[in-house]
Amino acid sequence: MSSATVLVINAGSSTIKYQLLDPATAEAIAGGIVERIGEDMGLVEHRYNGVEHSENIHIGDHGDGLREVLRLFEAHGPHLADANIVAVGHRVVQGGSVFPHPTLIDDHVLEQIRDLIPLAPLHNPGHVKGIEVARELFADVPHVAIFDTSFFQTLPEAAYTYALPRELAAQHSIRRYGFHGTSHQYVSEQAAMLLGRDYKDIKQIVAHLGSGASISAVKNGEAVETSMGLTPLEGLVMGTRTGDMDPAIVLHLQREAGMSADEVNTVLNKQSGLKGLCGENDFRELLRMIDEGNHEATVAFDVYVHRLVKYVGSYMAVLGGLPDVITFTAGVGENNALIRERVAQALAGFGVRIDPEVNNVRSKEARVVSAPDSTVTIAVIPTNEELAIARQTMDLIGQ
Ligand code: AMP
Repeated sequence: MSSATVLVINAGSSTIKYQLLDPATAEAIAGGIVERIGEDMGLVEHRYNGVEHSENIHIGDHGDGLREVLRLFEAHGPHLADANIVAVGHRVVQGGSVFPHPTLIDDHVLEQIRDLIPLAPLHNPGHVKGIEVARELFADVPHVAIFDTSFFQTLPEAAYTYALPRELAAQHSIRRYGFHGTSHQYVSEQAAMLLGRDYKDIKQIVAHLGSGASISAVKNGEAVETSMGLTPLEGLVMGTRTGDMDPAIVLHLQREAGMSADEVNTVLNKQSGLKGLCGENDFRELLRMIDEGNHEATVAFDVYVHRLVKYVGSYMAVLGGLPDVITFTAGVGENNALIRERVAQALAGFGVRIDPEVNNVRSKEARVVSAPDSTVTIAVIPTNEELAIARQTMDLIGQ
């Protein structure tokens, strides 16, 4: 193995996902996940050469976790000494207004990421730990932070400002940050390539529909709107998150149901969305329930689609007209033909037409699923956040 590779690390609160990639060829050479850090029994999984190894093992902290990753590479390949790792790219969920671009990590930058913990209490602490340990274990190469929020730093002031008292909002750094930015950027660039159009010259809507879901409007290569806000709770209906709702519901639950702030937080983030509506957050299961005639599952699906259609319509207005392309990505967007069909049906009055046959073909490739006479191209593009992180890392270190 001789070409330059990047190790991408996504350290969460109790997990570390990692992937070794060749950014030039887009090849994912090896990767895996360390789960349940700090619990009695953890789990590690490592994939290389089409073989997957998994083990149950106690993992005390993030240091143990990353040392375990090194052991897995040595035990199951490839040997890191031969892997020609030129940099480590770290996914960081919240970059606040501080980081509009990928950034080379030094002690000061690490401190700034730590300072952003109040804005991302679930994510940034894990990132900080992951970066600290990785900088020790991979001391000879540069480390780069890639922020989920950076792509949305171009939002116009009218789009990122909440109508709260100015000083209060400023004092607590309250604004729309947006998340999934690495995915929205990667997918919108790929969509322009798929259409054979100049990225700086088209209007796009990107729907990232995974267990978390967000939608963005991208005009002439810059994000102009996005559905997630101060946190990844706002916007579309998600697997377990509410997305948009009247903020007074929070107060109502506190006053009338006697819930604490933490309890409301758990309800809104973990017990709502599709799961709250029908007890199921996995889309495959949801579709099965709909097929069996389950009313709650049918309503959950309708609520999900209704919210999505509302956003698409409003983003058309924000873009000042029909987009050139609407792209679906992530687990649900890439695999669920029915969602794409329902959105297209809702937009039929705008001349949007899906090709039902093409739309129903399962594929891992980027593809167009609209009919030739559709006013808007509908595309499906698999997202690849690890590759995007590896490429941005490589760009920054100038290789
Ligand atoms: P992600 O967060 O991008 O990994 O997406 C996870 C979501 O994608 C889950 O809700 C899954 O139910 C959904 N998903 C994954 N595969 C499929 C599939 N083949 N058909 C429908 N939904 C899927």
